[in-house]
Parts: sequence; structure tokens; C-alpha cells
Amino acid sequence: MITVGDIYQYLDKIAPFASQEKWDNSGLLVGSPWQEVRHVMVTLDISAETSAKAAELGCDLVIAHHPVIFSPLRSIPVEHPVYGMITNGIAAICTHTPLDMAQDGINDILVSKLCETLAVENDVQPLDDSGIGRIVTLTEPMAASSLAQSVKEMLGCTVVRYSDSGKEIATLGICSGSGSSFLEEIAGKCDALLTGDVKHDRWYAAKDLGISLIDCGHYHTEVVMVSALAEKLREKFPMLTVTEWEGGDPVAYV
Ligand SMILES: [Zn+2]
Repeated sequence: MITVGDIYQYLDKIAPFASQEKWDNSGLLVGSPWQEVRHVMVTLDISAETSAKAAELGCDLVIAHHPVIFSPLRSIPVEHPVYGMITNGIAAICTHTPLDMAQDGINDILVSKLCETLAVENDVQPLDDSGIGRIVTLTEPMAASSLAQSVKEMLGCTVVRYSDSGKEIATLGICSGSGSSFLEEIAGKCDALLTGDVKHDRWYAAKDLGISLIDCGHYHTEVVMVSALAEKLREKFPMLTVTEWEGGDPVAYV
């Protein structure tokens, strides 16, 4: 019998929960370690739709990247995803910043994808001391517009927003999710930053710092974890049914 606790311990090995950022809420957030698991869903977010889908498929556990409980909950109305998880007896483990940092975690998956698309030197560096992002060096420096086009195709984005410092890009910072707060830290180290969720003021900060900024969207820089983690679980727990649920980009574009 495989339990929620067995899967938690495995995840804790590949992306230790103790490494999470102070503000994070990763871990076993719904359910108990002793619950039996036959069918697990791997997803980016536990929305109400995801929770309903997990119930429809008969999942016992959902492993999501983003914490389904982040801020303290003062109530759990019926439309809240946690309500659906509890009423259907489905546990939830959320991997968030531990998987951002982990070796072979989300940022390393982005590096691997980049290596499949472009010529990248072997020497991959951390973006900063937190361990969340990465810095790669492109073997052949390229213009911001060409790089933006390449990563758009690489990640299957409908839209990629970017700003161009005017310099060719040789060193590229990578931070999945929302990483434009790293701009000041990487100034002088990176010619460009690939991330998501860039706010208005950060475009000006990038310009002032002489860094090209590429915004592929939060969803597209992180949904890559779904198939990678599902594959690892299938390998480790062959008896388990593992469903990949990407959910789709919640944003539409016209
Ligand atoms: Zn995220």
C-alpha cells in the first residue's frame, strides 16, 4: 500500500520541504500521511475546476506546485477548492519554492528545455543565494527579439512580452514564476532575464539597469513541472496511477 506519507517522503528527498522560503507554505496541506493513495494527479494549481476533476477521476492525492492554502483561511466556502478536496477525501501536497530551488526542479527543467532549443554552455550558475533561479551562457549571443521568439516556441506561449536593452544577450538569468524582483541582484551578471508576471515598474527597472526582460507568463514558465514530476512518480511508484493535469493557461489573449 502506498500512502500520502510515502509520497511526501519521496518529494521531500527530491525537493526538501525544509528548504522553502520563509513566506512559503509548501508541504502536506490537506489530508493525513496515513491515507492510502492509488491515483495521484500532478498539476500546477488546485483551482475549483482541478479539485472537481480530481474527484471525477477518483484521485486520492493532488500534488500541486502552488500552495492551495497560502494565506490563513478564515472560512472555507463551498466554491473554495479546499472544500472540494476535503469533501471528496483528497489530500494535497504542494511543492512550491522547494521545487523551484531543487536540482532538476523547475528552473533546471527550463534550462534543459533551453539546451534543446539553443546552444548553451555547460556551466550553469545559481541566480543568487536563494537557489531559486539559474544563469546560463549562450554559446552564440543573440538579439532580445530572437531570444524572445525562441523561448515563445520552446514554452508554447501565445504571447511573450519583452524589452530590449539593445545589447546582444550572452548571459541569461532564468527564474520561473515571478522573478523580476531579482533584476537588481543580477545587474552586471546577466544581459537578460527570462521570467513571468512582470509588473509595470519592473520594465523601467530593467531598462535603467540595461537588462533585457522576457516575460513568458507565470503559467508557461512553471507548467513544465507537471510532466517532469509525473514521470518521476511513475518511475518511483510503478503501482500508482499518475494523471498529468496542466489545466490550461487561465489567461485568454485577443
Ligand atoms: Zn509560481
